[in-house]
Amino acid sequence: MDKNLILVLNCGSSSLKAAVLDVHNKKLLISCLAEKLRDDDAFITFKMDGNKHKLALEAEKDHVAAVAALMDELKALHLYEKIAAVGHRIVHGGEKFTSSTLITPEVKRDVEACIVLAPLHNPAHILGIEAAQTAFPDLPHVAVFDTAFHQTMPPHAYHYAISSTLYTRYGVRKYGFHGTSYRYVAQETATFLGRDPNQLSLVIAHLGNGASICAVKNGQSVDTSMGMTPLEGLVMGTRCGDIDASIFSFLNENANLSIDEITRVLNKESGLLGLSNLSNDCRMLEEAAKFGHKGAQLALDVFAYRLAKYVGGMMVANGGIDALVFTGGIGENSTLIREKTLSYLQVFGFTVDHDANMEACYGRPGIISESGNNPIAVVIPTNEELMIALDTAQLANIN
Ligand code: AMP
Repeated sequence: MDKNLILVLNCGSSSLKAAVLDVHNKKLLISCLAEKLRDDDAFITFKMDGNKHKLALEAEKDHVAAVAALMDELKALHLYEKIAAVGHRIVHGGEKFTSSTLITPEVKRDVEACIVLAPLHNPAHILGIEAAQTAFPDLPHVAVFDTAFHQTMPPHAYHYAISSTLYTRYGVRKYGFHGTSYRYVAQETATFLGRDPNQLSLVIAHLGNGASICAVKNGQSVDTSMGMTPLEGLVMGTRCGDIDASIFSFLNENANLSIDEITRVLNKESGLLGLSNLSNDCRMLEEAAKFGHKGAQLALDVFAYRLAKYVGGMMVANGGIDALVFTGGIGENSTLIREKTLSYLQVFGFTVDHDANMEACYGRPGIISESGNNPIAVVIPTNEELMIALDTAQLANIN
C-alpha cells in the first residue's frame, strides 16, 4: 500500500487545525478544525470535497480528544494507514531553529525552552506533538517553525535600539513570523515570473487577519515587520502593529488598565476592529465603507498607508525591488487594499492595471501592475499547509 500522505497539525491554545495532503499531487484531501478545546461544548468540523460535518468532542474535550476524533475519521475514510509522517506548525523557535527539523526528545525540550517567547502558542504545540505522537507512535514527526526563515536577518535588522544586555540576557530582539508562508510564496513567485529565486529582490506582504511584510533577497529574509511577538508592524485584524511603547504606561496610569488588560486591548481590540469600531474583517469593512461608514473608511486608509510605508522600508532592506507580492486572505482578494497601497507607491514607479487587479482574486495568481512596468506588483496565493507537508516529506524521506 502507498503511504504517501502527510498530516499537518497546527495547535492553538483552544483550537486544533489539521490537514491531510498528498505531496505527490500537492492536493488537500481533508481538513478539520477543532474549537473551544477544554470547554463543555468543544467540537470538531471536518471538511472534505466541499462538504462539512461537525461532531461534539468526547471525554476531556482537549487536544488529545481532538486528535482521537481525527484518527477515527481518518480510519473511517481508510486514510489513517496511508499517513506517512506528521508535520507540526510551531510558532516560535527562537534563535535555536533555523530550519525545519525531525522531532526528537531534545527538539521537544528546545521548543519548551521557547515557551517564554510564545507563552500562548508553544505550550499548545507541545500538547499537539504529544497527542499526535501517541496516536501515530511509529511515524516521523517534523517541526516547522514560523520564525526559522527570518534567522538570516542581519543584526542591524533584528536588534531593537535598547540595552544589548536585554538581548543577551532575555533574548529581546526581532524574530519575525509567517516564515513558512514567505518561503513558499518566494519560491512560487520566482516560478510564476520565470526568474531565478537566487537573483530576485522581493517584498512580500502577507495580509491576513494577522499581517506582516518581509524583504526577501535572493531567497533569504533580510528584514520583516513582526518583532519579538506578532504584535509589531502592520495594522492587523485586531492587533495594533507599531505604536509608541510609552502608550503602555500612559494607559496604565490614565485609563487604569493593568498590563494584562493593555496587552489584550492591543492584541484583540485594536487594528481594523479598533479603528472601525465595527469589524476586524476586511471584506465587511469594504462593504461598510461603500455605504459611507467613516470608521471603516479610516481603518482601510490606515491599513494601506502603513503598508505602503513599510514597503518603502523593505525596499531599503533589499537595496531595491523587482516585485511587490501580495498574499494572504486580504492580499489575495482585496482589490481595494492593493489599489490603495499601490497608489501610495507611485513615488517608486509602481502602477496598477485595473483589469488585471480585478482578475487576480480567489486563488488566481497574476501580475497586477501595468504590462512591462518595473517594479512588478503581483498576487501569489500562499499555502502554508503545503509548505509544511513538503518539508515533512523531505525530512521523513517520503518520495
Ligand atoms: P486570512 O487570515 O489569511 O484567512 O485572511 C482573512 C482576511 O481576508 C479577512 O480580513 C477577510 O475579510 C479578508 N478577505 C477574504 N476575502 C476577501 C475579499 N474578497 N475581499 C476583501 N477581503 C477579503
